[in-house]
Amino acid sequence: MSQPRLLIIGQGLAGTALAWRLQERGVPFVIVDRGDPVTSSKVAAGLITPVTGMRLKVSWRFEVFYPEALRFYRKLGKRLGRRVFFPRGYVRLLQNEQERQKWPRRLLESEVGPFVHPHIPELDPTIVTLPHEGFQQRHAAWLDTVTYLEASRRFFGAAYRQAIVEPGEVHDDVEGVTWQGERFSHVVWAQGWQAARHPLFHWVPFQNALGTLLTVKVDLQGERRILNRGCWIIPQPNGTMRAGSTYEWSFPNPPAASSKVLEELEKKLRDFLAVPLEVVDYQSAVRPIIKGRQALLGAHPSHPRIIFFNGLGSKGSVRSPWLAKHLAEHILDGAPLDPEFDLQANDPA
Ligand SMILES: Cc1cc2nc3c(=O)[nH]c(=O)nc-3n(C[C@H](O)[C@H](O)[C@H](O)COP(=O)(O)OP(=O)(O)OC[C@H]3O[C@@H](n4cnc5c(N)ncnc54)[C@H](O)[C@@H]3O)c2cc1C
Repeated sequence: MSQPRLLIIGQGLAGTALAWRLQERGVPFVIVDRGDPVTSSKVAAGLITPVTGMRLKVSWRFEVFYPEALRFYRKLGKRLGRRVFFPRGYVRLLQNEQERQKWPRRLLESEVGPFVHPHIPELDPTIVTLPHEGFQQRHAAWLDTVTYLEASRRFFGAAYRQAIVEPGEVHDDVEGVTWQGERFSHVVWAQGWQAARHPLFHWVPFQNALGTLLTVKVDLQGERRILNRGCWIIPQPNGTMRAGSTYEWSFPNPPAASSKVLEELEKKLRDFLAVPLEVVDYQSAVRPIIKGRQALLGAHPSHPRIIFFNGLGSKGSVRSPWLAKHLAEHILDGAPLDPEFDLQANDPA
């Protein structure tokens, strides 16, 4: 095929961001999704935070990913007539002595300073138990993934199809690929954790993790910031809160959270909040994680028309816009891939 026309398999955060990148450039595409009611992207809290984890470090390449994500979601919000991206104050309380010792040293690091609010957060002592030492992050936000995915799907119109695509149904040759009698220049497999079963990608070292979030009813007396001490809690527009999250490295098929992990998460939340709460629901899904990698992209080593876009881990909201742009430039313009993400650099052969 002389003109690009892409087939994207999977309408999660990865596939959707790529579809928008093609749309921006006027490149035709078809995006296909199996329509599972529960997926990583639909369950995700959509949190975007610069300082993360127990190490209290700035998230990898946040200064590159965040500005792109901000531009991308704001522009889309206008285009879709729906707001999907919500900057929020984010109060991170220190949870133990180790963190209290570490934090003053971290604050002196030049990369941390720009993301820390100059004022120590004041919290209503009646809603959160002691201790209250901590910091407020700048440039934190949450993405309403459900609205973003749904509104994008509606916008794509006939370019969106609901179907399960089996790897054996997509046939490639030197000039392109064929699926259900239609020709495309490339196929992009953006199918999340389910790619671990794809016969062409079985060698990719997936290390997927089941994650669970709780939906709770709790009166935080007007507190609108995201709060975190051992677990986080995000106020939702419908008045409920979401709280999470967990990591389970082995899980049954179909994926389901263990009762032990659910109990631990609920206990963390009850220890953190000083007000009564009611758990009304929980949701679990599998994060696509690739061992030792922040994401992998690019063509299969021996099938140049078959492209991979996966491994967004627990940072899909902030990383997918930049990565999708990078992948689109690689496919359409021949721009080299950053070796950090290049699938072929990980080929065991
Ligand atoms: C509990 C939990 C909390 C999270 N919290 C956050 C957070 O706060 N912030 C953040 O940034 N990230 C978070 N994440 C991670 C984030 O959800 C992932 O990074 C992201 O969803 C991965 O997107 P994806 O498109 O690669 O995969 P997916 O969301 O899995 O999308 C893949 C899509 O492909 C479809 N598909 C698969 N196979 C086929 C096939 N053969 N044919 C057709 N369709 C197919 C699937 O149905 C699915 O819709 C969280 C994840 C979980 C589970």
